[in-house]
Formats: sequence, structure tokens, C-alpha cells
Amino acid sequence: MNIYKEFGARTIHNLAGASTRVGGPILSKEVSDAMVNASTFSVDMTELQASASEYISKITGSESAYVTSGASAGLTMGAAAILAGLDPSKMENLPSVKDNKNQFIISREHRNGYDHAFRLAGGETIEVGMNEILSGAGVRRTEAWEYESVINEKTAGIVYVATQDSEPPFEEVIKVANKHNLPVIVDAAGQLPPRENLRKFIEKGADLVAFSGGKAIKGPQSSGILCGKKDYISSVALQSLDMDEYFEIWNPPSNLIDKSKISAIPRHGIGRGFKVAKEEIAGLLVALRLFIEKDINAEMTNCKKYLSIIEDKIKSLPNIKTTINTPSNSEEYPTLNIYTGKINAFDLCNNLKVKSGLFLNEKGLSENFMTVHPMNLSEDNIQHISDVLHNDIKEYIK
Ligand SMILES: *Cc1c(COP(=O)(O)O)cnc(C)c1O
Repeated sequence: MNIYKEFGARTIHNLAGASTRVGGPILSKEVSDAMVNASTFSVDMTELQASASEYISKITGSESAYVTSGASAGLTMGAAAILAGLDPSKMENLPSVKDNKNQFIISREHRNGYDHAFRLAGGETIEVGMNEILSGAGVRRTEAWEYESVINEKTAGIVYVATQDSEPPFEEVIKVANKHNLPVIVDAAGQLPPRENLRKFIEKGADLVAFSGGKAIKGPQSSGILCGKKDYISSVALQSLDMDEYFEIWNPPSNLIDKSKISAIPRHGIGRGFKVAKEEIAGLLVALRLFIEKDINAEMTNCKKYLSIIEDKIKSLPNIKTTINTPSNSEEYPTLNIYTGKINAFDLCNNLKVKSGLFLNEKGLSENFMTVHPMNLSEDNIQHISDVLHNDIKEYIK
């Protein structure tokens, strides 16, 4: 059965990775079963988030956690928590910030399309630093003192976008933040695997860390994790949950929201539009459990096998050259680069999309290669996909 057919939508092969635009990962049966099962019961959403908080916190080592509708929503809500704290009137005012203390410092080289998430909450991003290596005009990149030099009475916090290669080192940014008593929020959306990153930034002193649930964790596409300090997570909950309650008979679990710290129930906050369904919370929690329990090295070995099958199939086609990239950390995904020689990689890549719904990773197109990410390859589809890819490329270059 293919439910998409009923509504006239075609299905595609996502060889691009966990990208949102191609639907993210295919869910395992355990995860989709969990979502179906969750849909047959009713729950108090605050209690469910409190249970999720407990479970996720054990895994991440954080004080508290919240299931968000993706990492991007997590960044917006983290910013909202930093800007409003536990003050209902500040929550009500967002994205306007009464005291103008709304600046988030970010390294210029960390900036990306997702920092819109901070502005959405009322934040303003203040850029610092340079990547002189990239510009070919020097030897250094952004340094910690540059964050310090722009701190003023309007500074609300520091944003750190984590990659394997982020500069300055996280520890140095934490040092500056601690000296000035500023919170640090980390965008670690795509930094899994390796699984050690679930704990790493919290351990090193991050106040809030956002992960995608719909990337390598293989949870529902519109799920994510925001973990960190308890008061911030309480603020996130207060600005996200349905707040249509009477204060007197409102009983939030104290691990998520300490009612004694709240003077009144705020009205629906800016997170109300980022609501997460009970089915998504259940799916994310099961996906997270599977993610931490699984034999990830065996999975990566399988991935490599699938990439080799594709490679063997296409490598003798004219113009085509292939390489399999094996990351040094054995928990990370291998990938297959397909170099297209005299053929324009953009045109070939687009042809594959349009003709047979083969969506490859497009990062290398300007350097004339396409990449196969193995996340959604399996015993069930590898023969078919490698056949179609081979036939389509052959057809295109003839
Ligand atoms: C994917 C990604 C996001 C967004 O994550 P979602 O879970 O899709 O909202 C944010 N930041 C970075 C760096 C990402 O790679």
C-alpha cells in the first residue's frame, strides 16, 4: 500500500540524507507502531512532556528537556526562554522585548539560515569575528575575545552553532559566557551521530542545546529536543503548552514546571504555533531509545555495503568516477561521491530528480559531484535504487 497515491502525490527515493525537503528519514516499524499506539490513548500533554523531560534528561545529562517541533523550533523557544525567563508579562510581549535586552552574539562564520529562529523570538543577532582562512587573507578565524568585545547591557546570550570544525573552541566561548553570566544556546541540530554529542555540550556548560529528532535519531520529521537548565525549559513549556487553565487547579509536574516560581498562568505563548502531538512525542522517545541502544557500527557497515553496491553498478559508466568517504569516527555515516566529469552535475542531478524521483545530496554540485547518503537505503530498496540510478545515468550520458 502507498497512501500518497490516494492523494496524487508521487513518492521519491531520498538519497540526500535527513533533509526536511525530502521528508527526512524513513521511520522504523517500532517508531511508527509507537505513534499509532500513542494515537489510541489520551494524555495530559504537560504530564507527557514532563515524562519525556525525565527520559531525555537521563540520556543527555541535562537538568531538564522538552520535545519541540524540530531543532529550529527549539532554537526559537530557547531564545524565547532566555528573553522572558519565568515572567508571564515578558512572555506575553514576545517577540517584543520590553527592556531591549535581546542581543544574541554569534560568530559571523556560524551564521546560517536557521538563525532566523532567534529573530523570530524577538532576538537580534550580533555578528563577531572573521574567517580569514576562508577569505584567503589571513591565518585565523573567530576568536573568543571578539565575543567579549561586544557584550553590553543589551546582551541576552551567546549562540553557538556546532559542527565538527566550529571555531572558536566551545570551551573558550563558555569561559567568556560564564565570566559575564550569559547563557549559551547551542544549535547541534545535525551533530548526531556520534552519540556522545548528546551529552557533550551540556557537560561542557551549555545552558540549552537543540537537536533534530527527524535527522539521524530517525524520529518524526517534526520533532526535536531542547535540553538544558530547568528554568529555561520551564519557560519553554509555559510558552508552548496550551495554557487555557485555571491557576488554582493547574497541576504541572514539578520536574517540568515549579509552580511556586510562577506568579500567574501566561496566555498562549509564541511556542503555541509549534505544538507537538502526543504521537510525535511517543515516536521521538522510541526513536531516541533505539538510537542509543542500537549497534551503530553494524549499521554503518551495512551502509557502506549498500554504497558499494551502487558504486559497483555505476563506476564503469563513461565520465563517472566514484569514491566512498569513510569518516574517522565509526559512528558516522559513510557517503558515496559521484563525480560527473564532462557532464554537468547540476543537469544530471536534476534529471534524476525529475525523471525517477532520485534525490541525491546536492552539496557538491558546484564542484561537479553528487553525493549518495545511505540513511534510507535498506535490503528492501538497494537493488531497485542501484538499478534505476545506473539506468538513468546511462540513459542521460548517451
Ligand atoms: C537541520 C538543522 C536545523 C533545523 O532542524 P529541524 O529539526 O529540521 O528544525 C537547524 N540548524 C542546523 C544547523 C541544521 O542542520
